[in-house]
Amino acid sequence: MIDLAVLKGSSFVVLGLARSGMATVRALTAAGVDCVAWDDNAASREEAARLGARVVDPLTLDWAPFTALVISPGIPNLLPEPHPVAVAARAAGKPLICDVELLARAQPAACYVAITGTNGKSTTTALIGHILQQAGLRCEVGGNIGRGALDLASLGEGGIYVLELSSYQLELLQTFRANIAVWLNITPDHIDRHGDLAGYVRAKTNIFARQQAGDCVVIGTEDDPSREVAGEVAARKGIACIPVALDRPVAGGISYRAGMLVDADGYVVDFSDVPTLPGDHNAQNAACAWAVCRWLDVPRERIVRGLQSFEGLPHRQERVAAVGRVVYVNDSKATNADATARALSSYHDIYWILGGQAKEGGVAPLAPWFDRVRHAFLIGEAAELFAGQLDGKVSYSRCGDLKSALDAAHAMAQRDAGQGASGDAAVVLLSPASASWDQWKSYEHRGDAFRALARALPGATSLGRAA
Ligand code: ADP
Repeated sequence: MIDLAVLKGSSFVVLGLARSGMATVRALTAAGVDCVAWDDNAASREEAARLGARVVDPLTLDWAPFTALVISPGIPNLLPEPHPVAVAARAAGKPLICDVELLARAQPAACYVAITGTNGKSTTTALIGHILQQAGLRCEVGGNIGRGALDLASLGEGGIYVLELSSYQLELLQTFRANIAVWLNITPDHIDRHGDLAGYVRAKTNIFARQQAGDCVVIGTEDDPSREVAGEVAARKGIACIPVALDRPVAGGISYRAGMLVDADGYVVDFSDVPTLPGDHNAQNAACAWAVCRWLDVPRERIVRGLQSFEGLPHRQERVAAVGRVVYVNDSKATNADATARALSSYHDIYWILGGQAKEGGVAPLAPWFDRVRHAFLIGEAAELFAGQLDGKVSYSRCGDLKSALDAAHAMAQRDAGQGASGDAAVVLLSPASASWDQWKSYEHRGDAFRALARALPGATSLGRAA
C-alpha cells in the first residue's frame, strides 16, 4: 500500500468505493489522513467506516475544510450528466482528482511509465511490467489494470510505476507527470463521457501534460488522431518522441508487423514463435514495450527474453486448450467488432463462436475476414441479427448457449482437422463481438466458462495460465 503520510493535515472526500475508491480510503486512513467516504452501496459504506473513514453524505457537507474530491473515474463528473457531488465540489472550488494523482503526490521521486490508447492498454502495460520485472528492475504495475494505484508498494527513488491510464483517469490528474508516456491508438470510444471525438482525444492528451525535458513519448501512428497528436508532441523541445509504425520505416522509431519489429538502430526482433502475441495489433503493443524498455536501458537480450516468456492476459486471444491440431482460444474481451477483427485477422481456419448483446453495426464490418471462417456458431440475443449479416457469406448454425456452440464447433473442427487451407492449426475461437450481459455477469464470467468447458473436452490438453 502507498504511504500517504505526506498528505497529513489535508482532508478528502472519496466518492465511489469500488476497487480504487476503497484502496484510496484504506491508504488515507492508514496514514491518518482525514477522509469522508461515500457510495450508493450500503455495504461499501460500512466497509469504509470499518477502515476509519467518516461516512457522511457529501451533499450535506460544508466543503470549506476539504482539499479535493477523489472521485471514482467511472462516475460521470461532466457528461452525460454530472454527479451532484461533483457539481457541489466544483461549486465550492475544490479540484476533482483520482487515486493516481495521490500516488504521484506521495511518490514524487519515482519514475512513471503511463500507458493509454483506445485498445491494447492492458496488454502493453502487463508486457512492459513483465519485461522490467524479468530484467530485475524494481517496478509495480497497476492503475486501470490489476491493483489500484494506491494498492501498489511504495517504491521511492529508482522505482518504476507502470500504469495503465484510461481517459477517465487522465482527466482527473493535476500534478502527475509521465516520465514515459505511451500512446497506442485512437478510435471513437466513450463519447457519452467526452462529448465528441475531440473531447476524448483531449482527455487522453493529458498524459503528456507536465512532461519535462528528458522525458519521452512512445506513440502509435496508425490512425489520423494519433498522427496529429504525434506531430504536436514531436514539436516539443527536449522531449524525445519515438513513433511506432506498421510496416513502414520511421526515422528514430520502430516499425512492426505481426511477430516482428525493427528498432531505430535496425535491430530486428522476430517473436513470431510467441503464441501470446499474435497479430499486427500485438506487434504494436510489443513495439511500444520495446521502446519503453530500451529507453530505460534494459539490454536487448533481456527484452527479447521478456517477450518470449510473456503469458498474455486472460480473455484476450488466450489459448486455453488444444485437442489434436485444434487450438481453443478465449477472446471474450472482444465485445465489439473492432476487437474481434484483431482476432479474425490472426488465424486462418476459424470455427467462430459469436453473439451476446450486439453493438451498433453488428458484425457487418468484419466481412474482410469472412473467408477465414469455416463456420460460425451463434449464441445469445444477437443470433438473429448476426445470422442476417452472415447469410450467404459464411455458413452458420444457431446454437443458443455457449456450451452447445462449443460442442458443435469442437465436433466440426475435429472432423475437419488437418484439412485447413493453411499450415497453421485450426482454432475454435470465442470472439463474441458483443457484450456479455444477456447471458453472463461479465466478459470475464463468459471467458472463464469457455476456458473450463474447453479444458473439459475429451482429449484436451490445457494451455497457458492455470486460472
Ligand atoms: P484495453 O486495456 O485498451 O482494453 P487490451 O490489452 O485489454 O486493451 O486488449 C483488448 C482488445 O483490444 C484485444 O482483445 C484486442 O482485440 C484489441 N487490441 C489489443 N491491442 C491492440 C492494439 N494495439 N490495437 C488495436 N487493438 C488492440
